[in-house]
Amino acid sequence: MPFTIAIIGRPNVGKSTLFNRLVGKKLAIVDDQPGVTRDRRVGEGHLGDLDFAVIDTAGLEDTFDDSLESRMREQTEAAVKEADVALLVIDGREGVTPLDEHFARRLRKGKTPILLIANKSETRASEINAAEAYRLGLGDPIPISAEHGQGLSLLYDALRPIA
Ligand code: GDP
Ligand code: MG
Repeated sequence: MPFTIAIIGRPNVGKSTLFNRLVGKKLAIVDDQPGVTRDRRVGEGHLGDLDFAVIDTAGLEDTFDDSLESRMREQTEAAVKEADVALLVIDGREGVTPLDEHFARRLRKGKTPILLIANKSETRASEINAAEAYRLGLGDPIPISAEHGQGLSLLYDALRPIA
């Protein structure tokens, strides 16, 4: 089993964009609309000299029998279980939402190490406020822009000791 990274978080925070960035191909489906059904994807990721498997979670599954929240939870938990580290992606421009807090609360109970990723941080205005981040209990957020390829060296620095 290669070192495995799961990308998780609520819809529309840029998980698939980050997956694409790490895999280097347009494998994941990027969509503006939250709630669009998308498959979970596994790819071969690379960052500097690190090679790993990366799992992109859609955050949703194509089932009708359960609440949105519990479907997201199931998919997330399955990916996190398989992973050596999980990247909890939040939207650095929107700040921490109740759904982010919900994810964080559940993740903190598990054994898989979690890195908090503040995506869409290409501008200075996009920084998550420290008190908000502290509430998530997952350490300092790593500011990146998956779309613009910024902050990836910070992500590398965080992954290097564990990968
Ligand atoms: P997912 O639902 O979490 O997989 O999110 P997607 O990767 O589909 O991206 C949702 C939207 O956010 C798309 O319109 C992306 O172009 C946009 N997006 C992703 N990463 C960034 C980023 O770093 N900066 C900005 N401004 N937009 C981004
Ligand atoms: Mg996606």
